[in-house]
Amino acid sequence: KILIAGATGQLGNLVVRHLLQKVPGHQLIAIVRNLEKASALAELGIKVRQADYNDPQSLHDAFTPGAKLLFISSSEMDDAIRIVQHDNVVKAAQDRNIRHIAYTSFAFAEDNPFARVHLATEHAIRTTPIPYTFLRNGGYVEFFVNTPSLQTYIKDGTIITNAHKGKVNAVSRNDLALAAATVLTEDGHENKTYTLVSSTPWSFDELAATLSEVSGTNVIHKSVSMEDLKRQLVQAGMPERAAETAAYIYHTIAEGHMEKTTDDLACLIGRHTSLKELVASALQARE
Ligand code: NDP
Repeated sequence: KILIAGATGQLGNLVVRHLLQKVPGHQLIAIVRNLEKASALAELGIKVRQADYNDPQSLHDAFTPGAKLLFISSSEMDDAIRIVQHDNVVKAAQDRNIRHIAYTSFAFAEDNPFARVHLATEHAIRTTPIPYTFLRNGGYVEFFVNTPSLQTYIKDGTIITNAHKGKVNAVSRNDLALAAATVLTEDGHENKTYTLVSSTPWSFDELAATLSEVSGTNVIHKSVSMEDLKRQLVQAGMPERAAETAAYIYHTIAEGHMEKTTDDLACLIGRHTSLKELVASALQARE
């Protein structure tokens, strides 16, 4: 059996769909905190069990002894709560003799002050005897390449950032989901750590050129200062906090923090989706 914890989320949903291409549905059990959200999963013919990362007993009851577990990290924003949730999952996995844990960590976690919970969770998993695979996922490319953003860029003819020439190694959730499904259904991934980022990072100049080519409308990238970007985003109606976060992310890109690459993703899934394919599919979703 393969348990997918966090199956109702965006990544989990995609993992289930990839797993169904590889193994029969009766081998899969979706672990969800909200059964009402899981009707689409149940319709796919897979078993669904309720458990909440905050509730150790529910995890204990939901985990089948001897199964493999995909542990999708919690979306809780408060690190203190998140660490307790993650410890609950690891403890339940150990108590129930889970055979293999694949955990969704974060790329280059050691260099990232926002990835402390992931490092702590990796450590907690390593202290159990359970074989593990750490899927150190890169940032989701959908944050940058999504239908509403691309529509706005086309309408304005401009992508405005403060990322300058910085490059982005982000990857699609779908590629990351395929990587997770691969690790859960093949041998040889025990006690491995994979850093799942794009092997061909792109700059916003390249995004503008690709968007121009795919849409047939000329779009340019204009890089401004961090302060100017924040001001422009707020003027365009974005809440101040969100504008600050966006400007901070572009700043880290400008500084080269999203530039590092590995071939781990391409090695696991054969290839990863190109920027042109991502842009084309986001634009198709509009139609
Ligand atoms: P989603 O928010 O779509 O999904 C998160 C999943 O975690 C949902 O299934 C959610 O359940 C479940 N979950 C949250 N809290 C609990 C809980 N207390 N008990 C049980 N389940 C819980 O996120 P994504 O699928 O997009 O991403 C998966 C994870 O990746 C995130 O949770 C986060 O840890 C991390 N992440 C990675 C990013 C990246 O760029 N690589 C960016 C942002 C997050 P429910 O459906 O009921 O809400």
